[in-house]
Amino acid sequence: LIKVSGLQKHFKGGQIKALDGINAEVRHGEVVVVIGPSGSGKSTFLRCLNLLEHPTGGTIEFEGVDITDPKTDINKHRQKMGMVFQLFNLFPHMTVMKNLTIAPMNLLHKSKAEAEEKAMALLKRVGLEDRANAYPSQLSGGQKQRIAIVRALCMDPDVMLFDEPTSALDPEMVGEVLEVMKQLAHEGMTMVVVTHEMGFAREVGSRVIFMDYGKIIEENTPEELFSHPRSERLQSFLAKVL
Ligand code: ATP
Ligand code: MG
Repeated sequence: LIKVSGLQKHFKGGQIKALDGINAEVRHGEVVVVIGPSGSGKSTFLRCLNLLEHPTGGTIEFEGVDITDPKTDINKHRQKMGMVFQLFNLFPHMTVMKNLTIAPMNLLHKSKAEAEEKAMALLKRVGLEDRANAYPSQLSGGQKQRIAIVRALCMDPDVMLFDEPTSALDPEMVGEVLEVMKQLAHEGMTMVVVTHEMGFAREVGSRVIFMDYGKIIEENTPEELFSHPRSERLQSFLAKVL
């Protein structure tokens, strides 16, 4: 589904190599978990996948199309990639329902009725159908993040990208968001997830990628990666987070 080759992202004319030659593949239905220390390039990697950040080198093929080629219509491909951030990024002046339906109506040209029907069905799945007319400020952090996930799903994405979706939440709300993500994974959604939730990685990860200094240091199934880390860097990282 996604094939990344030699991906580079340099800042400040090459002084900062946020990504330094990443090769990775994400296949249909996989849950790829990305872990690594702060500043290792995890967010930059995700942001490059949907070109929120433009790579300074390498290619990204998405559904067989090189999306780094200036000739491709990135907006069309971006619509197929749902993104969920640490800080929800809901529109504060719009109700939940409006947040959920604005992009499907404007970008997919769905009718209001059709967009609302889909939004309502997804709200039910995350247990928030009674919050459709609330404003984001009236919701808890965990509720906001579940709405942010639903908002991405309303666009019928082929892949969901998550950048530390639970790290800004109070501890008691982490579980409800992870539960929604696990449900999605079990339904076969392709997902790339940057997270410090090692339990989630073990339980639903198809593969785990460990990054450091803009490179992939190790990549393996969760069982192998957590129980037999090969590199000294991964060993010391795991010693700190597990
Ligand atoms: P964290 O766990 O703290 O979120 P991360 O692994 O997501 O870290 P990135 O945010 O991808 O790391 O950053 C990778 C490197 O790129 C860091 O050294 C960071 O300072 C640098 N960087 C990121 N964005 C920019 C930018 N816009 N301008 C300059 N440097 C940047
Ligand atoms: Mg980050």
